Amino acid sequence: MGIRGSSTTPLNLENVPVPVENVLGEIGKGHQIAFNILNVGRLKLGAGCVGGAKYLLVEALRWAKQRTAFGHPIADLGLIKEKLGEMIAKTYAVESMSYRTTGMIEQLLEGVHQGAPTASAETLAALQEYAVECSILKVMGTEALHFIADESVQIFGGYGFSSEYEVERGFRDQRVNRIFEGTNEINRLLIVDMLLKRSMKGQLALIPAAEKLADEALSLAPSEATPDEAPLAEETRLAEGVKKSALLVAGSAVRKYMMGLEKEQEIIGATSNLVMESYAMESALLRAGKKIEKSSPDGAAWDVDAARTYLHAAADRAESDARRALARIAEGDMLRTQLALLRRFLKRTPADTIGLKRRLADRALELNRYPFA
Ligand SMILES: Cc1cc2nc3c(=O)[nH]c(=O)nc-3n(C[C@H](O)[C@H](O)[C@H](O)COP(=O)(O)OP(=O)(O)OC[C@H]3O[C@@H](n4cnc5c(N)ncnc54)[C@H](O)[C@@H]3O)c2cc1C
Repeated sequence: MGIRGSSTTPLNLENVPVPVENVLGEIGKGHQIAFNILNVGRLKLGAGCVGGAKYLLVEALRWAKQRTAFGHPIADLGLIKEKLGEMIAKTYAVESMSYRTTGMIEQLLEGVHQGAPTASAETLAALQEYAVECSILKVMGTEALHFIADESVQIFGGYGFSSEYEVERGFRDQRVNRIFEGTNEINRLLIVDMLLKRSMKGQLALIPAAEKLADEALSLAPSEATPDEAPLAEETRLAEGVKKSALLVAGSAVRKYMMGLEKEQEIIGATSNLVMESYAMESALLRAGKKIEKSSPDGAAWDVDAARTYLHAAADRAESDARRALARIAEGDMLRTQLALLRRFLKRTPADTIGLKRRLADRALELNRYPFA
């Protein structure tokens, strides 16, 4: 279908003698290297999707300005601007996650004693530490790019279906991203599995966090409020709310199904979506927050618009995922209590995302590119 510049062929190795001096790593531990290579692959694939997204955005912007309908460029139309704005906001979120994840891995790699016999084991351990984030980046990056490639074809209309235009190739080439480096279904399962295993080993304080959440539910204490006048105050609460929603769903699912949870893949998938959205929301917020700190409020306006656009849509998706999972896990009064908690976590005044997307689209149309460096 796509990536025709890359040759894909099966290679069967059967009873191949390997001279001792050619053995890589330790005999019997090749799978550890293979799994860690997948972590690097997922990280690079997710980050690479940002490049693809920016490329397709430039194509879509160019076409939207050039193509006229009823005497006006289609770029003037609200439904086209809405697509462009959404493409920009999704790219912003994945780019923020890429910077954050690579930055954290780089920090750990700085501690590796290069040249020492332990160097490769230390590198593997550093990558393993962020395996969850690598999987998140892979799934979120590839799904964002899939959306962007699809909307680019749509903006091109019938021309987008023709191989004469780059967006057709973009759509075909990106399709494999959700399949290789572990399908997105497998990565969704892995994200929850890795988090639960770390929690059981005491490496991650998920259980105390879930218990704290239960206490909060009993006391019905209002969730901590940030002063509303602070920029992104509502969105900061929403990111926290999605994290709590993930804990609520995961905690309820583990309590109900225990070891049988693996048979409830749909709930694991929904929990994974909540975890991923939580990471994306927080990453976009951290980036926009840094921009606010470093520049004038006007200088951070586009970052704030992109973060707000992403976060409000993400909260809608998260609420839908959590409701679907809770409706499977609980019923009757228990379900009603959990849904009430969920509403409290995700209580929000909707942002004018139509206006936000129009502003983002106008900015990109003015620059002829993705508006962030
Ligand atoms: C262009 C291309 C290049 C590739 N390059 C490489 C490469 O360089 N190295 C390499 O090792 N591999 C490579 N692959 C293989 C690729 O990694 C696999 O295709 C991929 O892992 C999916 O495996 P599969 O095709 O056997 O699908 P299957 O495992 O049969 O999956 C089919 C469907 O079932 C779902 N599924 C399977 N198991 C589960 C489960 N337990 N729970 C829920 N859903 C499940 C999958 O998500 C998928 O939707 C490449 C593939 C392509 C198309």
